Amino acid sequence: MGDNIRNVIIIGSGPAGYTAGLYNARALLEPLMFAGYMSGGQLMLTSDIENFPGYPTGIGGPEMMMELREQAERFGLEVEDKDVERIDASSRPFKVYVEGEEFQAHSLIICTGAEAIWLGVEGEEEQKGRGISTCATCDGAFFRDEEVLVIGGGDSAMEEATFLTRFASKVTLVHRRDVFRASKVMVERAREHPKIEIATFSQVKRWLSDEKGLTGAVLEDPRDGSEREIACTGAFIAIGHKPISAFLEGQVETDAEGYIVAKDHTMTSIPGIFAAGDIVDSRYRQAITAAGMGCQAAIDAERWLEENAH
Ligand code: NAP
Repeated sequence: MGDNIRNVIIIGSGPAGYTAGLYNARALLEPLMFAGYMSGGQLMLTSDIENFPGYPTGIGGPEMMMELREQAERFGLEVEDKDVERIDASSRPFKVYVEGEEFQAHSLIICTGAEAIWLGVEGEEEQKGRGISTCATCDGAFFRDEEVLVIGGGDSAMEEATFLTRFASKVTLVHRRDVFRASKVMVERAREHPKIEIATFSQVKRWLSDEKGLTGAVLEDPRDGSEREIACTGAFIAIGHKPISAFLEGQVETDAEGYIVAKDHTMTSIPGIFAAGDIVDSRYRQAITAAGMGCQAAIDAERWLEENAH
């Protein structure tokens, strides 16, 4: 494929990737996207999105991803539902390896996102995106006047627990130790809230459900293995996220956790390689912020190509 050097290859297909694709396609750069075998990203696991401006009655996560894709394809974005195995950023044009095939491009936009870490215990898979979520901002409002659990002892867990008190009748924070990684002020805020109960030395061993959905969890005390049941109709796992950057093999600078380090707006440590969305942002992690960054990366790539590629 040496004679077919693309202007831009976009890796990843969440809101950042599709927005970058839309902008680059409208700029007539004929972008190629590797959307991944499981295209669409984290929003494929979200039932309803109510906080993306422009959808007054909300929209399903998978539906939004289909519409973003359709919109970008209308202007010529070429999409392949394949996983990128690795890239070679050591020489130009950049090389992208996909299922044994080599592709070349003058610029890359990396939008592979991050994935929430799940507990991986029995009964979890069936309830993902239903009773069990990894995003209170996305799904909290579906648990009005219900009892929910939040799993974790970091700032995310404290923040999610406090946020969920707006909707839930009771929030139980389940943590495996009695020491919290979260900042003191956030732990205190949770402790003092009348709707929040904190269950320390508690680890979810398995989820319980019936035909209507989640009904509770079996909690284990890691000190002596004793078990007890707790009732809930919703649960939020907040034990951290991991960026999907292993395929970069350190060729683009990342921080200790694997998030890409942005050097100049959306430009990475390698000029001509740009990044947008959760792969570079562990702070906001929203569809709308990812889409905004996808737009920025597309414009940055377009300007960079004008000055450098031909
Ligand atoms: P985190 O600080 O790494 O905390 C993860 C928590 O999950 C820990 O309490 C850990 O328990 C627990 N955990 C991990 N694996 C587990 C498992 N398999 N089973 C049960 N529990 C498990 O992650 P985070 O809370 O997502 O925060 C990530 C970063 O973002 C932090 O730097 C945080 O300060 C920052 N953040 C800041 C804010 C804010 O300031 N507003 C909000 C959110 C996040 P152990 O402690 O026992 O290991």
